[in-house]
Amino acid sequence: MAACYNAAVTDATPAARGFSAKQSWRRTLAELLALAVAAVLLFVAGRGCLGYAAEHAALAMPPAADAKVGKLAADQLRRAHSLGAPATEAQTKRCERVFEELTGHLLPAEAEMLGAARLTVVTDASVNAFALPGGEVFVLTGLLDRVGPPPEGDALLRGVLAHELGHAVLRHGMRNIARSVAFTIALRVVFGGVDQLTATLAAGASQLDGLRNSRDMETEADDFGATLLRRGGFGSEGLAQFLESLESQPVPELLSTHPDARGRAMRLREAAR
Ligand SMILES: [Zn+2]
Repeated sequence: MAACYNAAVTDATPAARGFSAKQSWRRTLAELLALAVAAVLLFVAGRGCLGYAAEHAALAMPPAADAKVGKLAADQLRRAHSLGAPATEAQTKRCERVFEELTGHLLPAEAEMLGAARLTVVTDASVNAFALPGGEVFVLTGLLDRVGPPPEGDALLRGVLAHELGHAVLRHGMRNIARSVAFTIALRVVFGGVDQLTATLAAGASQLDGLRNSRDMETEADDFGATLLRRGGFGSEGLAQFLESLESQPVPELLSTHPDARGRAMRLREAAR
């Protein structure tokens, strides 16, 4: 057999041999490429599955874990970013009144998820508000300047706070952290207990500032906000108007974290009809 094989090779003309070698190279290259693509697909799918599993592990945690992670993230934020000074008493009272109007309409299970929902208002020109796991919501006074004075401005402020409460109740921060430390979470699920899982999530709290909510999470928070606003008899028009204002007077940072503001405003209005 070996002789036949050799004969077949040596019988070929030099050009035919070159052609055959080229074909073989191409085949090898194609096989290598196929292998590389398969490896990348497997890696991506594996990472996706791991991230998905980690999110579910985080969602299975008791609400106390959110409170612990949220507190660590707030401490970190205060240390690393030196948040502005507390807002004026009038600004704080205004935000607290609007916030309490909303938290008074949370369902028992939602309120339990937040533990002690609370508000922190700080002097900062940025137009922003954000919620940490466990329910601490931060309002920067630039947001108050943007929504305008009460009573008209309160409708917009209420919309933003309802949306932020949605992020906390739906545990988006916890899910984002879990995804970012998915591999460690997987190890803890297999070899550890609830305390170790909480510790892993708490260790990831310092990354929370750099993690962004997905588009789906923004939609979920909008839907939660709209439901909460309706429950309180306020309607979701304020949230829709705030989102629209992002298009007419863009806030680059906020638009990158809250994409497709106009589409979301239209969606809210359609749902309200
Ligand atoms: Zn959001």
